[in-house]
Amino acid sequence: METYQQFINGALVDSHSAEWIEVENPYTNEIVARAPKGDECDADRAVAAAKAAQPAWAKWAPVARAAYLKKFAQLIRDNRVELARTLASEQAKIMPLAQVEIDVTAEYFDYYAGWARIYEGEIINSDDPRENILLFQKPIGVVAGICPWNFPFFVMARKVAPSLLAGCTTIIKPSSNTPATTFAFARLAASLDLPAGVLNIISGSGATMGKALVRHPDVDMVSLTGSVEAGQEILRDAADKVMKTSLELGGKAPAIVFPDADLDLAVSGVTDSRLIYSGQVCNCCERVYVHASIYDEFVAKLKASFEAAAYGDPFADPAPAYSSQIDAAQLEKIDAMVQRAVAAGAEVVTGGGPADLGSGYFYQPTLLAGATQDSEIVQKEVFGPVLPIVKWDDYDQVIADANDVEYGLTSSIFTTNVNTVMQAIKDLNFGETYVNREHFEGIQGFHAGWRKSGIGGADGKHGLYEYLQSQVVYVRY
Ligand code: NAD
Repeated sequence: METYQQFINGALVDSHSAEWIEVENPYTNEIVARAPKGDECDADRAVAAAKAAQPAWAKWAPVARAAYLKKFAQLIRDNRVELARTLASEQAKIMPLAQVEIDVTAEYFDYYAGWARIYEGEIINSDDPRENILLFQKPIGVVAGICPWNFPFFVMARKVAPSLLAGCTTIIKPSSNTPATTFAFARLAASLDLPAGVLNIISGSGATMGKALVRHPDVDMVSLTGSVEAGQEILRDAADKVMKTSLELGGKAPAIVFPDADLDLAVSGVTDSRLIYSGQVCNCCERVYVHASIYDEFVAKLKASFEAAAYGDPFADPAPAYSSQIDAAQLEKIDAMVQRAVAAGAEVVTGGGPADLGSGYFYQPTLLAGATQDSEIVQKEVFGPVLPIVKWDDYDQVIADANDVEYGLTSSIFTTNVNTVMQAIKDLNFGETYVNREHFEGIQGFHAGWRKSGIGGADGKHGLYEYLQSQVVYVRY
């Protein structure tokens, strides 16, 4: 069993706290690692290190900072299989998907390294012919990056890569469910000559360590990926300091299937979007609206596709479609939502309950028909392999229903008519819309939710500018 230490001021060190987080492999239910259950003292030490390191780091040329992102990418590639095994063990992600997460994370560091010579300020026309107005982009300062358990390695990089490139220094707090891969990365980072304090990685609970970071007077920005509830609490704590927050929160993505859709493409797109990583993905398709004229055929095909999806050992070769839910609490939450949906009148098309594989927290691939628009299963994030199907026959109504949730992260449409595509993308109010494909974003896009799905966003050019603030200078000559 691995035992991890905090990574503070360039060194792997013992926590001030004597308490530990035990990391469970959700599939085997064995404890596979332990990480410090750090306290406010650890947060103080990490923030002090980040604050001390930031002014010098910000003075480096961006290309010199980018050199470290490239080193991170190389170290990740050199250790890709071991990192994927650690990831698969701590969160029951099937090995091929764990490997994709590790490889995309390496690519992500390289991608942002490429921005060193690209990001820029502006020269603005003045009203005075003997004046130049210069807009500089400067780093925000000390950033606390607070991560969820579902893509712990990638989301860590989503915060580290743009913030360090921008000249910020960073403290990462992984989720208590999944600190292992992040600390495996800390060990790799500790082997580099990265200036002390530029990157710090500390574990602890959200209530203690997370809150201490958010409330700390020397933390200039918090970037959270997590639940709406955590985002709301962080916003309340940030209000006292009037601090910049970037929040990537939950989703309830609709897929709309039009009468002229390629049905096989729609079935595979919706299946992949719902079952990937046991349905525990923020941009997963969480509800599907199917036109009445193709409803029966689509549901029959989707049922066959869900029933063909195997679940089991994340290390099996060939891999199943998905493995265990993250923990017992998630499994119970998913089942309670399904049972409430059935009690409210939804009909189980397939699945409908947990599955006993001897170990792990498994839920059957589940389709529910006949749920109403205002029901919990259509309105609230399930975060499991459960999909309500809603029949529609009026364009304006289906668009209104798709938009009618408190979340606004992703959405998708399946149609072969270009006019429908252009009209629907105008009418859908979501941060992302996918046309004729599964829900999954690219690193050069901008992953940003509307409504309660968040504030700000990640990836691409706009994700980098999240970590920069402007200074406008008026130069009269
Ligand atoms: P969570 O909100 O329970 O925890 C996320 C992180 O926040 C953890 O590290 C936790 O310790 C910390 N935290 C919790 N309360 C805090 C507080 N008051 N102050 C500071 N830190 C606090 O979320 P989770 O269960 O780990 O992740 C699942 C959720 O994340 C889902 O709702 C999912 O949709 C969302 N998510 C969103 C995206 C996105 O890009 N929009 C990506 C992945 C996951």
